[in-house]
Amino acid sequence: MTEFNPKRVLIVGGGSSGWMAAAYLNAVLNAGDRPFAQIALVESPDVPRIGVGEATVPSINHILAAIGIDELEFMRRVDGTYKQSIRYVNWLHNAGEHYHHPFSRYRLEPVDRSADDWLRSDRSIPFAETVSAQPIICELGLAPKTVDQRSTGIPLTYAFHMNALKFADYLSEIATSRGVTRHVDHVVDVERTESGDIAAVKTKGGLRLEAELFIDCTGFAAILMEKTLGVAWVDCSQWLLCDRAITMHVPYEQHYPGYVRPYTTATALSSGWVWEIPLQTKRSLGYVHSSAFIDEEKAEQELRAFEGAHAESLDARTVHFKVGHRAKAWAGNCIAIGLAGSFIEPLESTGLYLSDLATVMLTEHFPYGDDMAPLAYRYNRIMANRFYEILDFINLHYCLTRRSDTEFWREIQKPERMHDRLRAKLDFWSKKPPSAADFEDQWFPGQPDTPLPSGNLPGDHRSPIDAKGLWNHESYEMILYGMDFLDQECNEWFGKHRLKPQLLKNIFQALATAPRVLPEHQAWLQRVLGMRTYPTSQGKAN
Ligand SMILES: Cc1cc2nc3c(=O)[nH]c(=O)nc-3n(C[C@H](O)[C@H](O)[C@H](O)COP(=O)(O)OP(=O)(O)OC[C@H]3O[C@@H](n4cnc5c(N)ncnc54)[C@H](O)[C@@H]3O)c2cc1C
Repeated sequence: MTEFNPKRVLIVGGGSSGWMAAAYLNAVLNAGDRPFAQIALVESPDVPRIGVGEATVPSINHILAAIGIDELEFMRRVDGTYKQSIRYVNWLHNAGEHYHHPFSRYRLEPVDRSADDWLRSDRSIPFAETVSAQPIICELGLAPKTVDQRSTGIPLTYAFHMNALKFADYLSEIATSRGVTRHVDHVVDVERTESGDIAAVKTKGGLRLEAELFIDCTGFAAILMEKTLGVAWVDCSQWLLCDRAITMHVPYEQHYPGYVRPYTTATALSSGWVWEIPLQTKRSLGYVHSSAFIDEEKAEQELRAFEGAHAESLDARTVHFKVGHRAKAWAGNCIAIGLAGSFIEPLESTGLYLSDLATVMLTEHFPYGDDMAPLAYRYNRIMANRFYEILDFINLHYCLTRRSDTEFWREIQKPERMHDRLRAKLDFWSKKPPSAADFEDQWFPGQPDTPLPSGNLPGDHRSPIDAKGLWNHESYEMILYGMDFLDQECNEWFGKHRLKPQLLKNIFQALATAPRVLPEHQAWLQRVLGMRTYPTSQGKAN
């Protein structure tokens, strides 16, 4: 490597993606004696942050650790609670059924054939409950930790629910206290170099901010990537129909159900689904739906009816979004992170994860010298691969439904709504359950050889390969078998037999221990973080 000076990095946009990038890049690149990046961030006082993004996945723990953030302090600052699972309600038949997608499970050693064994049984116990104690621990409303943070020996991986605006503010405070420069000003113009790269941005307040590397974190506006460089947005709405959310907050002063659930609930409604995210001071709700199937007013009515009479007086907000990604996440000397780069609808909470991955990958591919093209090439492949892998996984949640009660649910089952890659996976998994080997290259029989949208360089004709996807075979199994995949076929193939209780011993043991050592989630929040107590409300207990 050649001699270099610290690179000037300008992040435009101060939502969670902008401040996560600032804090993480600074923590990783400038940790030693010699700083590698001189980081500044400019955020507009005129354009509000999107303010949703309240549920996370466990990878957030890596980001917090790398920045050096204490977990309890973080939870206090962001109104945080624990998330151990997503509970899916009414996705299969709309008959009050549910299944969990928990974050941890036991594995059988040396050979894990849990799914094979379960498929050959009468399947009277939900699959998730045969491989993990977490669904029942969630139903019992328990925290994943003891009050004194002792290990329980029960594997309980967790992520967090949090206030997304407070998270961005907290990261901003950390980053600026460690040397990141913050400008509060609106970017009005962008200067280009002769080669077409970005040279500087100009602000309403008269600043001219130069850098060698620009990070576009301006949300869906994408003022650098789209408006300046003209990098196209690849639309993926064919596979994920939802494009709008009606959101609402239920302060506990107004309605407190008497507990704080240690998981996210995703309940399917007529034209999409509603998230329920419990924080320390309120519950957040959002009806994610397709504008082609329900108008805004009806969607709002449906959300209020779902929540109950106390929702009548609450304010609702509409958020529009689009599902897709930039043809190139890194173009020239500019990288789009956060909503400027890609978005997959909020099911499974992958928005912040994609910003987190983008930031981690940028530190790994950081351009110390001037030749950015090879780094950008790899970076773009990785980001596109991960995007499509997540798209498949979210697509899976919808297309196995057997609901036919509304036009939305009938539409979502049509063959053209299933991505070809997912179809190839499901065809394959009808021959054998998913296993780790399937994720070595994710190339399945019958899979079409689609080009990557990033260009026509050698290798770009190959279908995305993602051996390190966010969702491994264990998560796929939770959704497949939660949604009764192959249920009828298995009855015919295998008959109905009692499940061999291989893992159940561990699970019974965990369930016998858990209520003795793990407090209820709200009790943990009150005792450890000082969450206020609220009187329990009458009426629908959500
Ligand atoms: C309905 C919905 C629900 C979601 N739920 C989840 C979830 O549960 N979990 C999850 O992980 N993710 C979720 N997400 C995604 C999450 O909200 C985003 O990934 C995250 O908030 C990052 O947003 P951002 O920082 O990219 O953009 P924004 O928050 O929109 O920030 C954009 C920034 O750019 C600035 N800006 C814009 N124009 C200019 C300009 N001209 N000059 C200077 N600055 C400018 C703005 O002032 C702002 O600071 C959800 C998204 C939606 C739409």
